[in-house]
Amino acid sequence: MLPTAVIERAQQEMLEWGDSGMSVMEMSHRGKDYMSIAQSAEANLREVMGIPDNYKVLFLQGGASSQFAMVPMNLLQGKSGADYLNTGMWSKKAVAEAKRYCDVNVAADTSEGGFCSVPTQESLKLNADAAYVHYTPNETIGGVEFDYVPETGDVPLVADMSSTILSRPMDVSKYGVIYAGAQKNIGPAGLTIAIVREDLIGNAMENTPVMFNYETHAKSDSMYNTPPTYSWYMAGLVFEWIKEQGGLAAMGEINQRKANKIYELIDSSDFYGNPVDKNGRSWMNVPFTLADAELDGAFLAGAAERGLVTLKGHRSVGGMRASIYNAMPESGVDTLVEFMKEFEQQNG
Ligand SMILES: *Cc1c(COP(=O)(O)O)cnc(C)c1O
Repeated sequence: MLPTAVIERAQQEMLEWGDSGMSVMEMSHRGKDYMSIAQSAEANLREVMGIPDNYKVLFLQGGASSQFAMVPMNLLQGKSGADYLNTGMWSKKAVAEAKRYCDVNVAADTSEGGFCSVPTQESLKLNADAAYVHYTPNETIGGVEFDYVPETGDVPLVADMSSTILSRPMDVSKYGVIYAGAQKNIGPAGLTIAIVREDLIGNAMENTPVMFNYETHAKSDSMYNTPPTYSWYMAGLVFEWIKEQGGLAAMGEINQRKANKIYELIDSSDFYGNPVDKNGRSWMNVPFTLADAELDGAFLAGAAERGLVTLKGHRSVGGMRASIYNAMPESGVDTLVEFMKEFEQQNG
């Protein structure tokens, strides 16, 4: 979802942005109107997340999936290996891509338990000589979210935050690189944001394509070539909306309350289940199963009748998944919880 207020604002500005005589979609990315849109989006993101001055914010394309390659290409910096925490489908993909460029030390692996837990800090088998440590704070498909930030000493920490960025306050200074595809909690698809500590820029592997080098984008304020201008503009509207909601502290409170409402219902019933350890449950993606999977179809059909859509679980895990990103209003969660109670009464 995107916030309705954001889509309405975009609608108002659709034909003509300000007095520019054109739509944002028609602007040159180097013109002064678009430059002001781009710069204020970055300034608002910096303000909302409290991004320190020694970090670059890059507005890129290629999705989080491209970062799976860009991270090793830019951060290995002569080292032969990196540490990866394997906690779900997305970290698995990051590991597979990194293996093309370096030795991957899997410093934690929760696959045996079906990716239903968060490894403890003490259990991480970190290598002091690793170029970086990569992890996925929120595994979107399994609904598993770290309840702490791994401590990695002097080794830069890299986080794929695609599905949890902006969901709560966080300390950017603990990370070397944070990246996220926009389409979950930032804005429409097509934009990928990378927040990179400056000292990690400028030492990419030889043969790194120009477009895959962080330095290219850092030096040109993400305007080396044509950026995804409209998605960047929309992201800027979302950052303003977050400020209006009270910033990340307010978002965090709302998000925790939303998630708890669903988990409480699941835990209070034998009809619904969630396999994830309680300390590792995601605030953004709540997977759940019915005691009788034969009822899945009836559940999804009944939900759709109330406007509750996109609830089908990822094809790899089945069951249901409620994605309750920032833009999902608490009333949407209330409607879901009400429907779940009713469905249990009728079918439990
Ligand atoms: C969705 C998602 C991705 C993939 O993002 P793309 O932008 O489609 O490449 C990667 N990691 C996580 C955690 C995701 O949720």
